[in-house]
Amino acid sequence: MHKTIENLMPINTKCVRCSLCKFPPLTTVEHADFSMICPSYREYKFHSHSGGGRNIIAIALKHNRASLSPAARDAIYQCTLCGGCDMTCKYSSDIELVEMMYALRAETFRQMGPPEGLKEVLHGIEKDGHPLGVKSGKGEWLKEAGLEESMNGHQTVLLSGDRYALLPDKRKTLVRLANLLKKGGVEFGVFGAHEPTTGRMALDIGDEETFDRCARKVAEIIRRSGANKVICADPEDYNALRAHVPKVTNLNGVEIVSAVEILNELIKKKKIKPVKSISRKVAYHDPCNLGRLSETYKPWNGKRKKIMGQLEVYDPPRPVNRGTNGCYDPPRKILKAVPGLQIIDFPRRREYAYCCGGNGLLKSAGFGDFVQKTAAHRVSEARYVGADTIVTACPGCSSNLSKGSDGNGMTIVDIIDLLAESVGI
Ligand code: SF4
Ligand code: SF4
Repeated sequence: MHKTIENLMPINTKCVRCSLCKFPPLTTVEHADFSMICPSYREYKFHSHSGGGRNIIAIALKHNRASLSPAARDAIYQCTLCGGCDMTCKYSSDIELVEMMYALRAETFRQMGPPEGLKEVLHGIEKDGHPLGVKSGKGEWLKEAGLEESMNGHQTVLLSGDRYALLPDKRKTLVRLANLLKKGGVEFGVFGAHEPTTGRMALDIGDEETFDRCARKVAEIIRRSGANKVICADPEDYNALRAHVPKVTNLNGVEIVSAVEILNELIKKKKIKPVKSISRKVAYHDPCNLGRLSETYKPWNGKRKKIMGQLEVYDPPRPVNRGTNGCYDPPRKILKAVPGLQIIDFPRRREYAYCCGGNGLLKSAGFGDFVQKTAAHRVSEARYVGADTIVTACPGCSSNLSKGSDGNGMTIVDIIDLLAESVGI
């Protein structure tokens, strides 16, 4: 079940307005220019545009102390849903900011509908079965990869994802991933043209009904395939299948892994060998959807109770995700295995990484300028540490950072492409 604003009241009303949700922990800050965690607050500079501010908006709505205006709706959607605030708040408190922002978007969607551009995205999911507004078919990449659609009879399936399979400039990366898996001896099936979207973008918009429909559809095709492992090429699907689909339907017994986890295993077992030296100074950008946002969903079936006559608590205490168990090490180990690379860390990394701006559908919502500036800021951080290349493991991050680096001499590379080059694919 999705959380509602009401569900979150016992913990989220305990916000002390300390503003930690705007900044990474002090001990991790290396430079004043890179001392914020919240791209939205950095851009709009009002508390309403931080995790804590949106939490207050949600609580005020619930208590009927405020109503939605177009400006309030903008503030709600001018958030990349990156989860940075959630992690930094949990450095000292346990407020569920990401859950609250999803609940707030769902409430806004019900009361007012989303910004105009996001209606198009939903229309695309209904009409084309995916949110990207492109004409190509989801199975087109298979021919190039020398694969055939194969729905059943595999223990492992590769979920290609909307962006890798449908966007012409991303498809070659997906083909390389399939070739790396084949070279490593991984036996896998693919759903091709029948692969449904996980619908994560519908959830981001606040349309829980559409997301639930997509979640049931994708879970059903996975269950019917008989596979016990799903490799997600796209971190957005990794996030959807681990953190959100289990709220709607059961995928018990199916292991959800990311492409980088499998590729790292193949290197460890010497089934694929990066041999070609690549001389670059690389900074690894942690995608929010691969890292802090993708700890597995943990159901909780306790009760709310009042203590000391007024404080409301959860009994027993709920499980809390703090982002520390995201997928951070496998991509770093892959980079370490590639000869010639000089690896430099971003100051803001792992659960405190700074979002590239590409999450949360801001561009489609009409806030493209904010997205561009956020990407440019992340690129400037890579330049500050002396990197000439940003490596990432998400098609959304690589597209967005490329836009942010326009004319600035920073190369943006998908880790799959980098590894394939070194392996000789
Ligand atoms: S949400 Fe958390 S970090 Fe932000 S102001 Fe409230 S208690 Fe502080
Ligand atoms: S999810 Fe990201 S952009 Fe949204 S309030 Fe939190 S840190 Fe800011």
